[in-house]
Amino acid sequence: MHALCRGLVCALLMQLGVHPRHGDVCCAPLIFLPIETKLFTASPTMSEAIHPCLLCGKCCQNYRVEFSIYELQSMGGTVPDHLAHEVPGKGNRARMNGTEQHPVRCAALSELPHLGEGCVGCGIYEQRSRPCRDFPFASYGCHDTREKFGLPALQEHEITPWLESA
Ligand code: SF4
Ligand code: SF4
Repeated sequence: MHALCRGLVCALLMQLGVHPRHGDVCCAPLIFLPIETKLFTASPTMSEAIHPCLLCGKCCQNYRVEFSIYELQSMGGTVPDHLAHEVPGKGNRARMNGTEQHPVRCAALSELPHLGEGCVGCGIYEQRSRPCRDFPFASYGCHDTREKFGLPALQEHEITPWLESA
């Protein structure tokens, strides 16, 4: 399925006292950062660095994101109903809009021009479904997705500082 970096950036923001809000965009894919906020780390070695997910977002353009309908807001969950639909013939499964087609692009994936050219983030970061939460940054799926889209492999120095900050 899809998606993001498991909230690493979001966790970092929390540590820095920044709390992503619904309607903002952060990373992790993203997230919803307040428009004036930049995704920097507190580490001098990462100064002025933006989380790789904010410059990528490809997992949100690669997987069919399906989850239990009980994750929909109308069923007591968190995922906004207008961004998903029930999967025909699957009973109790829902799918993020835009991930059932080709090319894939989740309807919640948002441009983040205030962070820089090409930056993207999940528009429902705090409300995203379980599969999105479970997709690990720098995992095999992450690397495989980046390779599919022609992005360079993440280097150790691009991974470790963020994992240590999470
Ligand atoms: S493919 Fe990897 S680097 Fe790109 S947004 Fe997804 S988790 Fe982040
Ligand atoms: S809900 Fe967010 S994290 Fe999940 S695929 Fe869509 S944009 Fe990516």
